[in-house]
Amino acid sequence: MNYHQYYPVDVVNGPGTRCTLFVAGCVHECPGCYNKSTWRLNSGVPFTDDMENRIISDLNDTRVRRQGLSLSGGDPLHPQNVPTILRLVRRVRAECPGKDIWVWTGYKIDELNDAQREVVALINVLVDGKFVQDLKDPALIWRGSSNQVVHRLR
Ligand code: SF4
Repeated sequence: MNYHQYYPVDVVNGPGTRCTLFVAGCVHECPGCYNKSTWRLNSGVPFTDDMENRIISDLNDTRVRRQGLSLSGGDPLHPQNVPTILRLVRRVRAECPGKDIWVWTGYKIDELNDAQREVVALINVLVDGKFVQDLKDPALIWRGSSNQVVHRLR
C-alpha cells in the first residue's frame, strides 16, 4: 500500500484529536473529487513498517491524547489496500485500547466483499458511498454529499 499524507495530530477529519492517514488508490472517480491525486495505487509513497509502528506509538502518546485513528484517501478499502489496512486496524484494536477507528470509503457498506468486511468488523465508524457533486452540502458533518452515510458500528 502507498499513502499520501499522515497527520499525527489532526482535529479536522473526525471527532476529537486524531491521527489521520490518507492512502493511495481509488477506483470510484467521483466527479468533483477533492483528492484526485490519490487515485493511482502507485501514487504517494510506500506505507512502511516504520510508519505503521509510528501510528501505533502516536495513538498511545500520552502527551497529546488522541481519540483515535482516521483512515481516508483515496480509498482505504480498495481491494489492494485491504491487507495492509486490516493489519493496521488489528494492531490498533490490540495495542491501543480505547481508541476509535473511522474509515471513509467510496464503496457502499452492502457491496463490500468478505475481506473488506473483515476491516469493517474491527472499526467504529464507516462513512460510505461515492461523493456526488449534485448532493454536495457543506453543512454535512463528516461527509461531503447527502448520499453518503455515517454508519456507527460500535
Ligand atoms: S471515493 Fe473519495 S477519493 Fe475516491 S474518487 Fe470519490 S471522492 Fe475521490
